[in-house]
Amino acid sequence: MSAVAAELVDVRKTFGPTVALDRVSLRAYTGEVHAIIGGNGSGKSTLAKVISGVLVPDRGQVSIFGKSATTPAESKALGISNVYQEVLVADECSVMDNLFLGADSLFGTAEPHDVRHARARKIMAELLGFDLDPDTIVGDLPLSVKQWITIARSMLTNPRVLILDESSAALDFESTERLFRKMREMKAQGCAIFIVTHRIAELVRIADRATVLRDGVSVGTLEKDQITEENILHLIAGPERERAQSGS
Ligand code: ADP
Ligand code: MG
Repeated sequence: MSAVAAELVDVRKTFGPTVALDRVSLRAYTGEVHAIIGGNGSGKSTLAKVISGVLVPDRGQVSIFGKSATTPAESKALGISNVYQEVLVADECSVMDNLFLGADSLFGTAEPHDVRHARARKIMAELLGFDLDPDTIVGDLPLSVKQWITIARSMLTNPRVLILDESSAALDFESTERLFRKMREMKAQGCAIFIVTHRIAELVRIADRATVLRDGVSVGTLEKDQITEENILHLIAGPERERAQSGS
């Protein structure tokens, strides 16, 4: 049985005159992939940050496993991890140091170095598809590898709610397959995963539920058997465009 992992009720978030989110309500469940889809600027990343507690909504409620968090630290303690759209790594540090950045404060006690080293090597091999020495300095690595490091870093915290914001944007088909394999593994362990994407074909392959945003407003959530390219395009376009296209 899946339980509600995240619930948003009537969330609104503005930036000055910009209404980034309005009237957004959704429910995401454990062991499911919940996709957030919408056009450029439709509020996807803002929604990801509201769920992960980085942004506080102007109105409405966000609860994670029935509890509301008011600071990013509280959200983290509830088991949320957000892989941001922007790739944030410390170039001068090793892969391993990047992977465990801040991990001590999260887990309380430090794991032995060789245990961490082995975990770092294993997850990077799973995600990258090749072996990477965890002692490599990150600076000169390709952007795609840096992106994998941010994904691996989140996964290593064993999140109960994982948010991937356009994490597959720069990945080719095979790499995306490796990411999806890892996501399915985490799902099986009960993790709730949000994927923010604008790639409909990808979403159709992996999502169990999909919420569509149009200009910051949630225009619907599709369940697994309703998730088709056609249904999603229909929701993204909205009634005005449909009318314009049919000429009436
Ligand atoms: P998406 O991820 O769907 O492309 P965003 O959530 O990033 O959309 O942005 C939604 C809207 O909010 C856009 O109009 C964007 O310009 C605006 N916005 C997002 N973040 C900020 C911010 N920190 N300050 C001002 N405006 C912002
Ligand atoms: Mg975005």
